[in-house]
Amino acid sequence: MTHALYAHPHLLGIEGLTAAEITAFLDVADGYVEKNRAADKKHPILRGRTVINLFFENSTRTRTSFELAGKRLGADVINMSVSTSSAKKGETLIDTAMTLNAMHPDFIVVRHGESGVVHLLAQKVNCAVINAGDGSHEHPTQALLDALAIRRAKGKIAGLNIAICGDLLHSRVARSNILLLKTLGANVRLIAPSTLMLPHAEQFGVETFYDLREGIKDCDIVMMLRLQLERMNSNFVPSLREYFHYWGLDRGKLAMAKPDALVMHPGPINRGVEIDPDIADDIQRSIILAQVEMGVAVRQAVLEILSHNLANK
Ligand code: ASP
Repeated sequence: MTHALYAHPHLLGIEGLTAAEITAFLDVADGYVEKNRAADKKHPILRGRTVINLFFENSTRTRTSFELAGKRLGADVINMSVSTSSAKKGETLIDTAMTLNAMHPDFIVVRHGESGVVHLLAQKVNCAVINAGDGSHEHPTQALLDALAIRRAKGKIAGLNIAICGDLLHSRVARSNILLLKTLGANVRLIAPSTLMLPHAEQFGVETFYDLREGIKDCDIVMMLRLQLERMNSNFVPSLREYFHYWGLDRGKLAMAKPDALVMHPGPINRGVEIDPDIADDIQRSIILAQVEMGVAVRQAVLEILSHNLANK
């Protein structure tokens, strides 16, 4: 029998998920937040299972939290970091995944620089595949952890005004968050310089703004994004100094949002580029470290829910 609320074998993206499916992940994750604060964090429901973290791009938070999530649930966790210097990136991924698949893992958590390849991989292996970020496409567990952080801080998601600001064009975090937050009924605003706005943003049913102060007016949540310099093949911004002047979140600009507005950032932060350190470190306003905490709980929830749907039960 598959999981009562989530019947899919993989988690490849937020696209296509229903509000009930998203809420199922959040509800299970909520329970893990409390368990992770206890002295004994082991709940070995995945004893005997193997999780492989297959990362073709750098990661600190995501890889570590998947590792902790798997270990706290009693699974064996293997970390593989693969360089993408090879010209045939797609082939490298499939070859590596097929090789690993022959060793009978139960979960492969994969991060790769090319959008969409995680879907291809899921067709080739017979274990559960979890997308830990594919190019500029999706990062579903990031969106889930962001939603959990918002829900716990504000008590709800529906009806909130949530601004997502900065490098929308290159951000998988933004795409997954837009899809999730819209599905759960938030009012989403996208704010970016025109060179970094998401193309065809209107198809997501969001409002777009080209001025940070104007866009964050009356917002409950201000989510800043990292400038993805590694995905930029030309000059999208004049200079980092100028970018901070117009697009960096500081106290003056944040004053436009609601007085109790909270600030988020998926990390890693470029301090003084997209956010003033003074705001990032303000525990009254910033829930950036709560996002990191939620990351472990969400990844435990994803592993738990997908374990119900494994073929070899
Ligand atoms: N850590 C997030 C990601 O992997 C955000 C970022 O890198 O800017 O997409």
